[in-house]
Amino acid sequence: MRFTLATGNAHKVREVREILAGLPFEVATMQEAGFRGEIEEDGATFEENALLKARAVHAAVGGFVMADDSGLAIDALGGEPGIHSARFAGRDATYPEKIAEIRRRLEGVPDAARTCRFVCAIAVVRPDGSSFTVRGTVEGRIAREMRGDGGFGYDPVFLLPERGLTVAELPSEEKHAISHRGRALRAMVERLRAEGLHP
Ligand code: IMP
Repeated sequence: MRFTLATGNAHKVREVREILAGLPFEVATMQEAGFRGEIEEDGATFEENALLKARAVHAAVGGFVMADDSGLAIDALGGEPGIHSARFAGRDATYPEKIAEIRRRLEGVPDAARTCRFVCAIAVVRPDGSSFTVRGTVEGRIAREMRGDGGFGYDPVFLLPERGLTVAELPSEEKHAISHRGRALRAMVERLRAEGLHP
């Protein structure tokens, strides 16, 4: 089964390919599929934004299209940065800068109130234009300092309290076993299997 992945984020492409490895899916990037457009992500939810991306690419290249919209939701910040995770503190800010801004806003917040989750919505558009979305989450806490050099984005500051490790300190297979993206993609596979679309 061949999918076009509607994302320009190379980290997401790598993780989606790793998570689906061993399954009968072939994942082409939207660039490989010939999509050159810009997509405005102005939805109000992860699901809406994932669908916007998948529909825009489907309209151009057809076939099965999958999109990932994801982010970090911090309870003490009312769920921010949430759907704004990529542009938080400015699209050009580096991740150390974005993370420094989060830590600044959480100054004085005790450990027990630093709860957060990664959220991933995966949208699938089928060749006939019909669609569905699935969601995966992983719960954690904003660490007091950055640790680890695996993963990407906010991983160095996302603490898994029961492990005492940040997501960036996990080998990638361990990240995928518990991550929002791993969970959402496994739910997608189950859904396709239930539809008989996937061997
Ligand atoms: P999107 O491209 O609008 O979906 O933005 C997703 C953003 O959420 C990324 O650029 C990261 O900032 C953040 N994010 C999503 N997934 C992860 C992850 O697995 N680790 C760390 N940060 C993530």
